[in-house]
Amino acid sequence: MKPKSLPPGLHRDTLAVHAALAPSQHGENSEALYLTSGFVQPDAETAAHRFAHPTEGYTYGRTSNPTVTSFEQRLAAMEGTEAAIAASTGMSAILMLCMGLLKAGDHVICSRSVFGSTMTLFGKEFAKFGVETSFVSQTDAAQWQAALRPNTRLLFAETPTNPLTDVCDIRALADIAHGAGALLVVDNCFCSPALQRPVEHGADLVIHSGTKYLDGQGRVMAGAICGPSKLIVDVFGPIVRVAGMSLSPFNAWVVLKGLETLNIRMQAQCANALAVAQWLQSHPAVRRVYYPGLASHPQHALAMRQQSGMGGAVVSFDVRGDDADSARANAFSVINSAQVISIATNLGDTKSIITHPATTSHGRLTETQRQDAGIGQGLIRLAVGLEHIDDITADLSRGLNAI
Ligand SMILES: *Cc1c(COP(=O)(O)O)cnc(C)c1O
Repeated sequence: MKPKSLPPGLHRDTLAVHAALAPSQHGENSEALYLTSGFVQPDAETAAHRFAHPTEGYTYGRTSNPTVTSFEQRLAAMEGTEAAIAASTGMSAILMLCMGLLKAGDHVICSRSVFGSTMTLFGKEFAKFGVETSFVSQTDAAQWQAALRPNTRLLFAETPTNPLTDVCDIRALADIAHGAGALLVVDNCFCSPALQRPVEHGADLVIHSGTKYLDGQGRVMAGAICGPSKLIVDVFGPIVRVAGMSLSPFNAWVVLKGLETLNIRMQAQCANALAVAQWLQSHPAVRRVYYPGLASHPQHALAMRQQSGMGGAVVSFDVRGDDADSARANAFSVINSAQVISIATNLGDTKSIITHPATTSHGRLTETQRQDAGIGQGLIRLAVGLEHIDDITADLSRGLNAI
């Protein structure tokens, strides 16, 4: 059966549920999972044609798969981009991005506060291939402007950042990139298209770790790049086909179903996060709260404008301590007192997750690098889930009240 043809102008919540339903065999109302590595061809001529024109039919799982296509098209509809291409993880999406757009001798400007593996990929791995990266301040657009060179190809940003939730002005960075003939890429993992659609603010390409809010229930790894067809189809399509960072159909199906509840989950998790942030702000054992939804956040107004009036679902906070050692001991005791919130390092789950960045995600940095990044021993990151707000605050109270 052919999929329903949808009327134009549907709202995002409707697209999240209906966009890009793959053709079904029996009229199934849920998306079909095509768990197959190969596709039977009707005849030799069709096989030859599809190998020459990979977007015109399915041949082999590394190249494309109908369930993966559904995920790509639904994500593109939600991000407001022409197209999207899936990858096995968020990091392999960034790898595909760089393989497609950069060559030896090119230059990249990247925020100093991006995801740790992104930093290493640009700063270390791509340096081996002759691509140089300048790392600049997340929030000072003048530093991005000053770092431009004639060979700058990409500006790469992530907003808000992990774990301190610094927000950059996507429009300002897009203007700087375009003035220099470069592209702006935004990692939209923390907000997801439910809150922030970077292309509406001038970004050229959007990166996703589907592992986080898109799946939203901590089940599978996935990634994607969203953007114009001429890049997605003509530049990144051939990379996936030869380099093989393809998303598995099973994972694509899980994330595709995750997209259906993304908007409603994000609204609920952001509301919980705002309530937790406000509660933490008034707790005597808390020195400082980092959350874009609070009026005290340095980029609060920008975040509200850029993120549909919501602060996201990640809240970080510093607990008090006389020195680094006692701050760490206090942070550890808050974490260890949690009975509902999970101690883990991922985020974007319906289950709240508590993390000590200085000894986990940012544990490999030197003490000076950590201090420069503002990640102290008393810092705790909380990725707020869907539990009842009173149970989250009660879980945090146990440890905080003992400080
Ligand atoms: C997790 C994460 C990534 C990497 O995604 P994986 O799916 O783990 O490879 C990239 N960027 C941000 C902001 C992330 O949080």
